[in-house]
Amino acid sequence: MSNTRVNPSAEELAARVERRGEFKNKERGQLPKIFWAEQEPGERVGNIREVPFAYTPMQARAEAVRCLSCKNEPCVSGCPVGVDVPAFLKLVADGDFRGAIRRIKETNLLPAICGRVCPQESQCQENCMVAKVHKDLGFAVSVGKIEAFLADWEREEGGVELPPVGAETGRRVAVIGAGPSGLACAGDLRRFGHEAVVFEAFHKAGGVLVYGIPEFRLPKDIVQAEVDNLERMGVRFEFDTIVGQTFTLDELFEEGFDAVYVATGAGLPYFVNIPGEDANGVYSANEYLTRANLMGAYRFPEEDTPVLRRDDVAVLGGGNVAMDAARTALRLGAKRVYLVYRRSREEMPARLEEVHHAEEEGVEFRMLSAPVEILTGSDGWVRALRVQRCELGEPDEKGRRRPMPIEGAYEELPVQIVIEAIGNGPNPLIPKTTRGLTTTRHGTLVVEEATMMTTRKGVFAGGDIVAGASTVILAMGHGRKAAGAIDAYLKAEAAGLPKPV
Ligand code: FAD
Ligand code: SF4
Repeated sequence: MSNTRVNPSAEELAARVERRGEFKNKERGQLPKIFWAEQEPGERVGNIREVPFAYTPMQARAEAVRCLSCKNEPCVSGCPVGVDVPAFLKLVADGDFRGAIRRIKETNLLPAICGRVCPQESQCQENCMVAKVHKDLGFAVSVGKIEAFLADWEREEGGVELPPVGAETGRRVAVIGAGPSGLACAGDLRRFGHEAVVFEAFHKAGGVLVYGIPEFRLPKDIVQAEVDNLERMGVRFEFDTIVGQTFTLDELFEEGFDAVYVATGAGLPYFVNIPGEDANGVYSANEYLTRANLMGAYRFPEEDTPVLRRDDVAVLGGGNVAMDAARTALRLGAKRVYLVYRRSREEMPARLEEVHHAEEEGVEFRMLSAPVEILTGSDGWVRALRVQRCELGEPDEKGRRRPMPIEGAYEELPVQIVIEAIGNGPNPLIPKTTRGLTTTRHGTLVVEEATMMTTRKGVFAGGDIVAGASTVILAMGHGRKAAGAIDAYLKAEAAGLPKPV
């Protein structure tokens, strides 16, 4: 149970921590990185347990010693919520874990989750000066792994500190959607002393954290522990409630809510639009992952929900969702899983760690391959995927080189399941059933950037319903910004002042 990278011995780790005050910056930047252990690929495809193991306390301290405490703090500007990275790493190096987690929570309420799923290599760790010394991004200080270690340490030690709840204001705010954005907003609303009621369509809180991201990347008891903390702060949850269907947003105001935060995410799957998509055996990644994760299909028949299990599976896409679907298919018993992506490896938007793990586990990457048809047998079930080879052309408006199909270069992949993971759009239900909201041509809600207020007074929005399919930390950042703006809005109303619009 280890990965192939060699770590310093226990004595060397202890010596590094002991000598931490003596290192000159140049020496510090040259200290070997501390790697975490992982389940072996052959073993882990047979279970759904988390792949990486946590740092030990001494490993976390020795890794934190590598931080150069850069004056200009490039890692802080790389973090969407501005976690004070050098400050918390210094506390970790000194062994003050309680102080370190407290420091992180000043800006990030969900460190156990962000430490695991944030794309650190393109955020805080991308700017890390240690990576520049080593000329390799992989050598950046492992900010995310240390963050996850601290959150786990705090949970296991007990005495998790909850943010203080403000004196009750008597003002009521409805939060629609219990994903990371809604949860972050609800937590902050309680800090301001407002009542926060979260309405969620599913029977569980967490949004993509529970229905999309699999257990082997983010254990669900970690998400549940964060939800429990919010309940202890007084956040109330109403499950199995689809706002726009069970009742409308307008009815929430009629019922006495003073403001609403819409955080309904981007759960509407896109399809490639090729012939054969209506065949048996074609899934959207959303449905496939929801069945496997939230509905527990990997435990079928002990659980009620099944999901199709076949030997050969093709997953379309190159993002985190595609990696999650491909790795889930392996865990559901597939013998061969193809990942079919139109561009090259460099353009893949997935987190580097997920790409690395997928490859280790045996997912076959079919780069520069565009799906053109799903072929079926006479029984209507999928029998193959037809792909066309591509080459890269000129960059598109986002700077990514366009895939250009090569004439006549076709290939058939013999598969019985096709999972489409090419992206998601915002759910249109709330915009369709609520007057006064404005959407962009992509269907996302238009908000005022400084306050996250929509074009309707008293209705705020954030997360994927505003940003399109984005990241956990950005969704949380929106939730916190909106909570601050809702507080200002309600205070202005109470004081009889014009509300900030
Ligand atoms: P969501 O998490 O989508 O939550 C929205 C919630 O609203 C859901 O619970 C939904 O049931 C509920 N809802 C919707 N409509 C209604 C309604 N009308 N009434 C009541 N409730 C409603 N990001 C990362 O940073 N790192 C990753 O590794 C990563 N991996 C991902 C893997 C997958 C499979 C997916 C799908 C996404 C991944 N993302 C990742 C993206 C990230 O999860 C999202 O950006 C983030 O969850 C958005 O948060 P949110 O709160 O806006 O929406
Ligand atoms: Fe430490 Fe790296 Fe941040 Fe510099 S950039 S303060 S070395 S984590």
